[in-house]
Amino acid sequence: MSARLSLTTPLIELPAYLRRIGTTTAGNLAAELAPVVGKPAAADVTVEDLLLYLPFRYEDRSHLPRIRDLTDGMAASVAVAVYAPSSTPIRTKNGKQLTLFEFTGRDETGRIRAYWWNQPYLRQTFPAERRVILYGEWQFSNRHQCYQVENPDYELLGDDTEDDVPETIHVGRCVPVYRKLGAFRARALRTLIFRLLTALGDVPDLDLPDELRSRSGLAGQLPTKAEALRAVHFPSVGANLGELEARRSPAHARLALEEFFLLTLALGDRRRRREQAGDKAKVVITDAIRARVRQVLPFPMTQAQKRVIREIVTDMTGSRPMSRLLQGDVGSGKTILALQALIIAVENGWQAALMAPTEILVEQHHRSLTRWLAGMPYRLAALTGRLRPSEKKAIRQALAAHELDIVIGTQALIQEETTFARLGLVVIDEQHRFGVMQREKLVTRGIAPDVLVMTATPIPRSLAMAVYGDLDVSILDELPPGRKPVVTALRGPDRRARVYDFIRQECTAGRQAYIVYPLVAESEKLDVAAATAAAEKLQRDVFPMFTVGLLHGKLRADEKDSVMQRFAAGDIQILVTTTVVEVGIDVPNASVMVIEHPERFGLAQLHQLRGRVGRGTAKSYCVLMTPDRISPEALERLKFFAETPDGFTIAEKDLLWRGPGEMLGVRQSGLPVFRVGDIVRDTDWLTAARHTAWRILRDRPDDPQTRLWLAQAQCRFPLTTGGVH
Ligand code: ADP
Ligand code: MG
Repeated sequence: MSARLSLTTPLIELPAYLRRIGTTTAGNLAAELAPVVGKPAAADVTVEDLLLYLPFRYEDRSHLPRIRDLTDGMAASVAVAVYAPSSTPIRTKNGKQLTLFEFTGRDETGRIRAYWWNQPYLRQTFPAERRVILYGEWQFSNRHQCYQVENPDYELLGDDTEDDVPETIHVGRCVPVYRKLGAFRARALRTLIFRLLTALGDVPDLDLPDELRSRSGLAGQLPTKAEALRAVHFPSVGANLGELEARRSPAHARLALEEFFLLTLALGDRRRRREQAGDKAKVVITDAIRARVRQVLPFPMTQAQKRVIREIVTDMTGSRPMSRLLQGDVGSGKTILALQALIIAVENGWQAALMAPTEILVEQHHRSLTRWLAGMPYRLAALTGRLRPSEKKAIRQALAAHELDIVIGTQALIQEETTFARLGLVVIDEQHRFGVMQREKLVTRGIAPDVLVMTATPIPRSLAMAVYGDLDVSILDELPPGRKPVVTALRGPDRRARVYDFIRQECTAGRQAYIVYPLVAESEKLDVAAATAAAEKLQRDVFPMFTVGLLHGKLRADEKDSVMQRFAAGDIQILVTTTVVEVGIDVPNASVMVIEHPERFGLAQLHQLRGRVGRGTAKSYCVLMTPDRISPEALERLKFFAETPDGFTIAEKDLLWRGPGEMLGVRQSGLPVFRVGDIVRDTDWLTAARHTAWRILRDRPDDPQTRLWLAQAQCRFPLTTGGVH
């Protein structure tokens, strides 16, 4: 234990530093904070973590309204003294037993009533004559002839026996209000944070780089870290409350810039270390190789595809390993670009790995590559779940002996115990389905392979910077010729029969349809049961003239593959499925996508599903089957989706509405937890941080100051580093 309280002191050690803080209190607080700040255990929670638990609003208590100033429906804090507190048991009409706790509150100008249901213990909290602040929405009660407030937020005044905490931190000024943390209410948190700030004195400043200060546009105004912490918790008189509440004050900037800088530095460092981990897989491009590539291509490339392949080739033939993120809307034709990179690597004598997130996609890629590369001498295999252990073992041995050039597999299959003789290229398809902070590790054997990451969920720039900040970005912003936007419509239950008629019509014309059911039940088993029942019913009652197939996550790998193959071959016309088809599936003849309970999906996910159709030249349709009861907000989202064909626009909205974790579906997989900054709101600060971090790593990676920053960065954002992401 260090002698002096510092930002890195574990919260559970507080009793050694502050009087009247018990081990139980400290332990409880740390336990409450851990999940909020994204730390695995209470023991990891530090003083800084608590100090970065920012107020969610501020209240100007320098002039609180008096009772006579209240108006009906007004949300306000009022200071009163407690009179006649009482609890009354009440029996409701349907026989339920409730307890009502209420008291009368008074100030010099009048009287109010405050009441709570079923919290009898409040009797102890509010003894008569106690002074309290009540916050809530005030309603005039005709029955009681005064304003009243139900279940208000409250703060007891003057209950601190603590000589070192002046009452003036709670009243008569602008005070911070915190969200309750377990049993810790705003006032307790305010007191503790005040005491911590006092005890800490001047915390050492992490000197932000000058470049970052000037890029932020706030150079002259940025406070030191200690000042910033004080200012966000206890704003000085005359501070701009609007700016504070919006978290855009110079003090917030100081703290947010620090965390963005440390994150982008950690990401940049991960890339640098990867580049230094071994020699770059050397790649040249010759006319012979160009000819080979041309020979394989089944169709002319779009302009965007040509541009991106040039970017990829420049990386591959350059002196540093490629670290590139390829973003392109669903159906923009990323696979064919991966194919070209694979050919170039193999022609240079390297092995290449293509990773996909699902078995179904692995099989699909395997089939396309086998078809495209039919006339080529490349040795190709897929490591899939349906192989016998002995077959997997044989493939692994062949990889280690360089008897295979290209391997396709899920991430798990390629990683487990797999060694490559000469791995030169890794392509990761649909990266957003994989973890983010814990990028994949592959055995590299002293060679740093080229890495191409492809994602089909368009990612807003801000999010891409935070999540893929270590990658260069290529954008495929053009769809192959002949594509028409998918006609998207909302249909209520009364139109179901007509939707089925329409499917019949399309299938009669030789096309195919998906019907997607969301994951709804707690257990996948129940969902599967629902989808199975639906498929049986549809086959029997609605589409007896067609073949209805069923695909879900619980099928065995070979069963999934056989259903997909029959659908791809057109033997199945209607595929009833769960979201397993969400990513990557490419059956260009399918022209109808029906989504049941679309309100249960995020927009980015709906866009992925819609992207399963409209991949050929036939006009395609996406029908959202809305239920009878749907909230106005959900309806608004779905309407926006129906009107918007562009994946990037949809992603921006999804990010705004649902936040980054939900949007990427990576809540569990370690999207960095930001404490002050918000990548959507503070994109300007994030951009400034990223530019600065990269310049520093390029210009002075070995400076003592840079090393200091890097040490902090790794502490704050521990990224997994492997040979490969
Ligand atoms: P995604 O970017 O979603 O992975 P795919 O690579 O699966 O998209 O491509 C979608 C469909 O478009 C595939 O059927 C593919 O063969 C086709 N395609 C890709 N590029 C072109 C092109 N330049 N011209 C015509 N069709 C193309
Ligand atoms: Mg794809």
